[in-house]
Amino acid sequence: MLLVVLGVCCGSAAGFDIVKDGRASAVVLTPDPCDPIVLDAANCLNKYVQEIAGVRLEVIPESQAGEVHGNIIALGATRLAARAGVNVADVSFDGYIHRVKDNIFFIVGPDENISSKVADSANPVLHNLYLSAHDENRWARLECRRGTLSGVIGFLHDYGGIRWFLPTPMGEKVPKSATIRVPDDLSRKAEPPFACAFAQNIGAQSPLGGRLWGYAPGFYWAAANSFRLPLSCLFLGGHSWVVQVRIFSGSAEALFKTHPEYFAMRDGKRLLGQPHNPMLCTSNPGVVDMLTQTLQQLFDQGWDMVQYNQSDGYRRCECPNCDAMDGYRTYESGKFTEPCERLFIPLKEIAERCFRSHPNKKILAMIYGPTKLPSAKVLKFPSNVVFQICHTEPEDFDRWRGRGDLFGAWLYWFGAYQAPGVSVKYTPRAAAENIALFHKHGVRVLYWGMGSSGENWGNEGPVYYVIGQLMRDPSLDYRQILHEYHTGVYGDAADTMREYFDCLYDRIDRYYLAQVGSSLAQIEEVGSAEAFFTSVYPPQALERLQGLLDSARGLAKDERAKMWYALTADQFQYIKTTANVFHAYREYKKAPTQDLSLRLRARLDERNEYLDRLMAYGRDKSFVENWYPGYAGITRYARYGSKGRSKLGVPFTEFPGTP
Ligand SMILES: [Zn+2]
Repeated sequence: MLLVVLGVCCGSAAGFDIVKDGRASAVVLTPDPCDPIVLDAANCLNKYVQEIAGVRLEVIPESQAGEVHGNIIALGATRLAARAGVNVADVSFDGYIHRVKDNIFFIVGPDENISSKVADSANPVLHNLYLSAHDENRWARLECRRGTLSGVIGFLHDYGGIRWFLPTPMGEKVPKSATIRVPDDLSRKAEPPFACAFAQNIGAQSPLGGRLWGYAPGFYWAAANSFRLPLSCLFLGGHSWVVQVRIFSGSAEALFKTHPEYFAMRDGKRLLGQPHNPMLCTSNPGVVDMLTQTLQQLFDQGWDMVQYNQSDGYRRCECPNCDAMDGYRTYESGKFTEPCERLFIPLKEIAERCFRSHPNKKILAMIYGPTKLPSAKVLKFPSNVVFQICHTEPEDFDRWRGRGDLFGAWLYWFGAYQAPGVSVKYTPRAAAENIALFHKHGVRVLYWGMGSSGENWGNEGPVYYVIGQLMRDPSLDYRQILHEYHTGVYGDAADTMREYFDCLYDRIDRYYLAQVGSSLAQIEEVGSAEAFFTSVYPPQALERLQGLLDSARGLAKDERAKMWYALTADQFQYIKTTANVFHAYREYKKAPTQDLSLRLRARLDERNEYLDRLMAYGRDKSFVENWYPGYAGITRYARYGSKGRSKLGVPFTEFPGTP
């Protein structure tokens, strides 16, 4: 959190005691009636105070408290807070206020269940959105402003010394202490630098998959590492046209029957094309009406921000009216050379009309494909347009500066469909560089779109932790964050594990990210799992990494450090056995001899033995829940990869044969 210091907050001699010498010195007062969001915060506070000091604090609804003489922690929007003038009206996103006044420590931030604002509708598409927003098991439940919980986490982090390294009960580091206190002149407002940060599966999911929201350790990890969605934003998978067409007339097929002229023309004919990815004729005023009205319907339903973008793999409409709007014709040698005004001009009109009808609602417009090159005609969009840039590169910010108020980023860093599959996909250095860039350029919405993440916590854990901590405070030095992680997780093995991770991430930086770019915009440069594994993990690199792991093995003394070391070493075996198969296969393809065939067979056997071991961990549920975050993800994709570039075909699926 970026801290705005309102008063002097350095520790004073007296201090405000919450627990003193192993005894509770404060009671917790909650608002009455108490919103479940504040109750979550009270439960979080008590769970960790108990873990630190071994005592529970009494939690009392404020109306039943009567006269309290000792210290009070007033959580959430209590009447006490209102009376003391502790007001969260101007705290942005899910920030919070910490303030000590006389015998009361106020922890309060804006709390709101945003999904509860999404209304039902007779329209089948809107009805489904309503169901998903209200389904407690869906990720949409993340759409909550939990400012008071942020305040509790901030307190536990700053004054309890707790660190949430990995999203399981054993991934937390909770220092023991008989006394917990805050300065008695504490007064500050903390506001998160990023409005929201969402990555599928990161944090709130249990290691066994599912129970997205009910899984407390993941929930607290996500809150402490700033992965959260305190905005009512409807992300439509990036491409909104299909949803808008369905809201408007049920399906693209139905719309094509009544209004074929709404669809793109090719070779003189209107085409339905792929109904799940319709291409529209944007010079048609009826299309602009449809796109406007359907956004208005979504705003009426209760969403504050709705993503908007043309269909994926955009193909222009060749009708004379569309072609008269611009010189955009095609995607030439990998670059868009002419601005696609036929998309920008309608967007401006849609935004103006939505601004008149819904002045407080936002359109999250994706800058993607043909819209990466800014308009030469629309130099400024209405203030309700928020641009979300895909494949963010430094020059995008310069090009787009001044055209919209606020930027979002749609990021491709993770996703098991990428060439690395469930191995390491990103590095702390690249993450730190990009987050600094985003912060500098006013990016407020971070969204890791597409696919899952969090399948290899043993080797990607430091990346997620660096991202999480930088999202709380972009001024931190990522090497310091890594140091905290290594010592907190690996104990006495920290120094050697640092060497291991430095070596691992250096390989990813030099032989993967340097080729594809840190935004992964040139992903076709490393187009396959084979290209990835053979260039990043040649035999000598695997040997070096294995050597470092071997020398770290005996160093970890306590049980916790040993177990986390074991996770990293285990998941390195995935990387190593997979790379070894590719190396043997390459040799075999060059000269398909009996010897090389046998060697390939042996490498495949080693990998299958590893995979069998990995699958067997699932029998011990308690082991997995404590020590194997992301287990559901890695086991799902380990054997044959996911889709696209990560797919593992021959020789994984089928032995190429013996000569
Ligand atoms: Zn047209």
